[in-house]
Amino acid sequence: MSPLIRGALIAGMPGLEVLCPACQTVGAVDLRRVDRHPEGAVAALVLGLTCARCGPAAPMPRLLGLHALPSARRSGGGLREPSAPVG
Ligand SMILES: [Zn+2]
Repeated sequence: MSPLIRGALIAGMPGLEVLCPACQTVGAVDLRRVDRHPEGAVAALVLGLTCARCGPAAPMPRLLGLHALPSARRSGGGLREPSAPVG
């Protein structure tokens, strides 16, 4: 059984990780931002993805898994500063 988009969101795992088998590029998709029906399967969403590097000729992406995204709400959406040593 393939997980549904809604199920992933409820589970707190909106980070969808996919791999392009052609160029080995790993991409992350935020399921909260995709314009898909929540009852749709995550696997079906993967079929609609296109590798930015390979373009339309890219092979079908492989679904690596779901994971929780870093909490962008608390960080304000910006990049965190690296903890550079002081002194
Ligand atoms: Zn690719």
